[in-house]
Amino acid sequence: MAGLTLRDVRKSYGATQVMHGVDLDIEDGEFVVFVGPSGCGKSTLLRMIAGLEEISDGTVKIGETVVNDVAASKRGVAMVFQTYALYPHMTVYKNMAFGLKQAKTDPAEIEKRVSAAAEILQITDYLDRSPRNLSGGQRQRVAIGRAIVRDPEVFLFDEPLSNLDAALRVQTRLEIARLHERLGSTMIYVTHDQVEAMTLADKIVVLRDGRIEQVGSPIELYERPANAFVAQFIGSPKMNFFKANDLPDTAAGILGRKVGAGEQVGLRPEHLIPCDAANAVVQGKLELVENLGEYALVHLISPQGVEFIAKTEKPPAEAKGETINFTIKSELAHYFDVETGLRA
Ligand code: ADP
Repeated sequence: MAGLTLRDVRKSYGATQVMHGVDLDIEDGEFVVFVGPSGCGKSTLLRMIAGLEEISDGTVKIGETVVNDVAASKRGVAMVFQTYALYPHMTVYKNMAFGLKQAKTDPAEIEKRVSAAAEILQITDYLDRSPRNLSGGQRQRVAIGRAIVRDPEVFLFDEPLSNLDAALRVQTRLEIARLHERLGSTMIYVTHDQVEAMTLADKIVVLRDGRIEQVGSPIELYERPANAFVAQFIGSPKMNFFKANDLPDTAAGILGRKVGAGEQVGLRPEHLIPCDAANAVVQGKLELVENLGEYALVHLISPQGVEFIAKTEKPPAEAKGETINFTIKSELAHYFDVETGLRA
């Protein structure tokens, strides 16, 4: 096992720079999730750590070793891909044993490691099968098994659940969490799905356009986003934003502060509580209700034309076109500079 240190890591493809200097410390045994919208550089960063992509500038250290010029196979990392990348003509056993065999590991040791990994992943019964006779979830477990047998210092996962259906995704996510608990290895996991990030990570790294926006525990990012981008990326449905002019006169009294001229206030849908007009922090005309049974997503539009969403326990009694007032506990309001996006 090992921690990682990234210092001023940059990547260019020809004249186009896509990573703009990433500094990051990953502790030994930590589960770190890289998250961000498509194209932000998550996979590129992971592939640079793996050694599948050259590092244009800066250093990547695994443990105490600078690995910039170390071949992928010698870095002590094992990667699990979205597409599983199994050999179709080999059995599950042979797929899992392949890397060890290439490395001329003793056959008895191979047998031991493959059996142990199969046991952990509950695929012992499929060892003689060909991957084509497995479900997507089982194939991904084989791919994870192939990583486990190598006993890597660091596990790297590149969107490993993307090809699975919703139910399997939840199940496999839990299995990966259990695996981390059991092995205690350093794991780096790439996803664009903030729910995966929130549920799996010890530490989330939010990326945008090749830069780190914020690093923190899931709850830190949710409760104290450093800027408007992180505030909207973490949490679902995303945080609503209002400028001073978008709020009724009652708002400042309830919030205990005015929203400044260059500021906006962020209110999470799940923190909005229906109330009477005297206590309103925001008001909106009812546009649409999505009733999901356990909660309702209420889509509204403020008199100033700002669209927003409230997440309520029950669907509202009001009809479409009627106005609903919402309040919020003042400590749950977030303020950001409109220009810079930074927390005010
Ligand atoms: P993510 O994994 O967050 O979706 P990527 O790491 O795949 O993002 O890509 C980051 C940026 O690098 C994107 O703008 C992408 O277009 C660019 N990029 C990735 N691979 C190449 C490549 N081989 N050549 C040129 N640009 C690339």
